[in-house]
Amino acid sequence: MLKSRFNFQRVYYIKTNIALQNASNLDAAKLLYENGLFGLLISAIASTMVIFGLSDTEASSPQVVWWIGLNTMLFVRLIDMILWKVKSSLLESSGLFGIQRYATGCIATAMFWSVYVVVFYPQFNTIELISVIIIITTLASSSPSLLAANRFTAISFSIVLLVPMSVMGVIAEQAHRQLLGTLGLAFTVVVVFSCIRSSRFTLDAIYQRNRNQMFVSEMEAEKNHVAQANQELEVATKELSELNIDLEEVVKKRTYEIYQLSNLDPLTQFDNRKAFTTNLEVLIEQSKAKESPLALLFIDLNGFKKINDTMGHNVGDSVLIQVTERISAFTENNRAGRWNGDEFLVALPHSDQDTAMSIAQAIATSIAQPIHVHGSELHLSASIGIAIAPAHSSSAAELIQLADLTMCEQKKSGNKQPRLFSSDLKEKITASQRILEGLQHAIESKQFYLCYQPILTAKDKVPFAFEALLRWNFNGKFIGPDVFIPLAEKSGFIREIGAWVLNRACMDASHWQFNQQAAVSVNVSVIQLMDDGFIRLLDNCLRSSGLAPERLHLEVTESTFVENKVKIRQQLEQIQARNIDVSIDDFGTGYSSLSQLQSLPVNYVKIDKSFVDNIQGKGEAIIRATLFIAGELNCKTIAEGVETKEQSIALSAMGVDYLQGYYFAKPMKNEDLIAWQNPISNTIF
Ligand code: C2E
Ligand code: MG
Ligand code: MG
Repeated sequence: MLKSRFNFQRVYYIKTNIALQNASNLDAAKLLYENGLFGLLISAIASTMVIFGLSDTEASSPQVVWWIGLNTMLFVRLIDMILWKVKSSLLESSGLFGIQRYATGCIATAMFWSVYVVVFYPQFNTIELISVIIIITTLASSSPSLLAANRFTAISFSIVLLVPMSVMGVIAEQAHRQLLGTLGLAFTVVVVFSCIRSSRFTLDAIYQRNRNQMFVSEMEAEKNHVAQANQELEVATKELSELNIDLEEVVKKRTYEIYQLSNLDPLTQFDNRKAFTTNLEVLIEQSKAKESPLALLFIDLNGFKKINDTMGHNVGDSVLIQVTERISAFTENNRAGRWNGDEFLVALPHSDQDTAMSIAQAIATSIAQPIHVHGSELHLSASIGIAIAPAHSSSAAELIQLADLTMCEQKKSGNKQPRLFSSDLKEKITASQRILEGLQHAIESKQFYLCYQPILTAKDKVPFAFEALLRWNFNGKFIGPDVFIPLAEKSGFIREIGAWVLNRACMDASHWQFNQQAAVSVNVSVIQLMDDGFIRLLDNCLRSSGLAPERLHLEVTESTFVENKVKIRQQLEQIQARNIDVSIDDFGTGYSSLSQLQSLPVNYVKIDKSFVDNIQGKGEAIIRATLFIAGELNCKTIAEGVETKEQSIALSAMGVDYLQGYYFAKPMKNEDLIAWQNPISNTIF
């Protein structure tokens, strides 16, 4: 109860928090204690003057006792003030206790004075009365200002001082004392009212001050909080940016990996076809903008296939990697590409014909240096075709095509020097393109027909088979198979053309009334042979023509056998299973090894015309060797390109089984075969 009474500031702070209450109480206590010394001094001086300075007579013992009592109490209050100053004023929670302590001392002082007035009032002479009234009213009138920090203390102090003295006056007998008593009571009301007003004002000020301070500290805390949040944000931003950098690195790495997968050849790390063509387009555009020529080298390795076939793919891969390193020495990033197995491309910006030729020669020389793989020394050479942009073409695809064709020409010529694309070559290429276009319509335009060249037994010169040879009348102009077959193979038309030939040949042979034993021997390209539908085609041809399978022979050129051996073997086995015989054509011109041939199911070996031509020279030894090999493989032999009687006699004497050549017959149209079969024309044999 007492506590709540002293803590009347609660009225103001009721809606605020405890901290604000405590701070305000502390401020109020401080204010009371700071102003307290003045009150103590007045009381001490006034009491001393009243007891020892005013009376004419000596102070009585009760007065001295009162004086000692009051001043002892004042001394205790002084000690309390010092203690407060030293210790309690620093503790926020001590505010309310400080107010209580101070109020107790204050009211006790007032009570001392009231006791003095009540006890000694009847004895006061006029001077004493006036002095006491002055002291009491002075002390009381100081309370609205000195005790404003606690309304209860201020009001209680004033009332305790003034009311007893006023009541004593009112009940006195003398009229002037009664008047003074009444004035005293009126003054009490005024002082109490002043205490209420000044107390409200002071408490408001304390409250506002503390509230502001609290706001300031809250803002300060908020500021610190924001600063801390900012700091945390900064740290987080830093971490995020570090994370971003890491992420960028990862993205960069992934992008490069994707780039590698989609643009780089996995073995050589050169650009693949697609990437090289795209880069070349950009380089050509740059060259055009700078009006500076760009050279493109098309490099093809000679001898690589042989290494790959004979020494295995691991060795082949090592060779390609070493070749790549050698080419890299002459190029910059993104300017070299792998086109096919052993074909490479190099783009040389700012290079005219002479520069390109020098670099191409240097690359060719570098590739021709021995290559060491797994302890073996290997040798390769390079055929290089050069095309220049924009002089020869500004299209990347066309430039590559021109450089490729130039390289092919260089390869065919057997010349080791790199070759530059020329107008002659352009004419040749244009002619090839015209032929290619013509080939597309040759079947539907019925421009193809077959000729048949007899193959005779060496012993009796009896027709044993007729080789079907394709002829093309291209708008009245005869185009030889040596010209159009390679083009048909390159473009893929050979499948369609080959199917037509096979069908026609089977059909013709099935109608040969003049000879129903002789076989028809059809040339088959490797592209056809490797086709999954080839066996089905064979079956269809035989079924639709009604030709016995034994009367169908297939001629496959020797170089074919270096391709996919497993697949070729499977196809040949299926052919053999149908009783269709197979010949190795142009034997000796390729590089099949004996072991390879041994494992392949073939029936005839056709000795190439070049050896027959040279039968007087080294050809004889080769033919004898071929006969030996064929014997070992259980194959019969056929000599191609027999043009003279001497050759015929010599070949027969050597043991060749069959002969074919102009000496006996040139390829003839189907309808001419009957006339040729006439025995009269056969007398020359
Ligand atoms: P090949 O299969 O070696 O055919 C033999 C070639 O030599 C034929 O030339 C033939 O006319 C020619 N020939 C035959 N005897 C003599 C001779 O005594 N002297 C001379 N100088 N030549 C002779 P052709 O018909 O020009 O065929 C050339 C090549 O074209 C053929 O060589 C064959 O590889 C290919 N070929 C022809 N027709 C076809 C076909 O229908 N399909 C496929 N894939 N290739 C074919
Ligand atoms: Mg042939
Ligand atoms: Mg041949």
